[in-house]
Amino acid sequence: MREIRKKSEMVLFARNARAHGKRIALVPTMGALHEGHLSLVAEARKRADAVVVSIFVNPIQFSPNEDLNKYPRSLSRDKAALKELGVDILFRPAAESMFPPGFKSYVEVDGLSKKLCGRSRPTHFRGVTTVVAKLFNIIRPDLAFFGLKDYQQQLLIKQMVSDLDLGVEIVALPTVREFDGLAMSSRNSYLTAKERQTAQILYRSLCLAQQLIAGGERDLNRIMYKLRSLLGTEPSIRLDYLAAVDPETLEEVKKLRGKVLFAVAAYLGKARLIDNLLVDAG
Ligand code: AMP
Repeated sequence: MREIRKKSEMVLFARNARAHGKRIALVPTMGALHEGHLSLVAEARKRADAVVVSIFVNPIQFSPNEDLNKYPRSLSRDKAALKELGVDILFRPAAESMFPPGFKSYVEVDGLSKKLCGRSRPTHFRGVTTVVAKLFNIIRPDLAFFGLKDYQQQLLIKQMVSDLDLGVEIVALPTVREFDGLAMSSRNSYLTAKERQTAQILYRSLCLAQQLIAGGERDLNRIMYKLRSLLGTEPSIRLDYLAAVDPETLEEVKKLRGKVLFAVAAYLGKARLIDNLLVDAG
């Protein structure tokens, strides 16, 4: 595995790979890699000739009161894991080269970026779409891999690719979970042992929605009430949102029909955790 820090070097590598007819896959990450990230890398390895993994803790997707400076880092472990999976390039640009002083241009997906997580993190998604657009322009991958754990993120990126004719195939893969269902996340490392125990209730609440629907419950108000009551049994959890939305528009649904995305975001100790589950209500 070769590590590239300079954008110009990354451009040259990608140009050369393309000239040799290679299909390039990109897996963008912020590092502190876990099995969720590695599932994307393993799939990328199967589907492309050259696999590029980026590790970039993107400053413009954090607001000033968020955890940019404390974001977990485990570079040597990350490198060993990526090497093991046969990654060709680790791209690790410096923040100053991606966002030099005077940077002024942003890519924003209207509407979708203001829903769910966009309500409490109003500039987060324009930070994400801008950095992903930059990575796509530097690398020009054929394929790029994202996790459904960040459901809204992959939806926005698909929309951006379509709207701006970026010509990258977006592959979204299932959420990898811990033994008790908690969605793997770099931010889980912020949790104390006790909070880590508590955190499993997020996925349990989503599963409860699925169970109620499978059991024939059709009243969404009643379902949401039961989910909120379950989450309410853990007073250390502060809900940001719990919502049942249309998986394409992220608009709240009033009636259960077809596929419904149950999504939750909550603060627990020093962490803000998110999770979601797509339920088929028939
Ligand atoms: P991050 O480093 O948190 O920006 O995540 C990089 C990529 O890994 C994103 O596409 C995430 O959606 C994906 N990812 C993060 N956690 C998981 C998980 N538990 N399962 C699957 N993919 C994940």
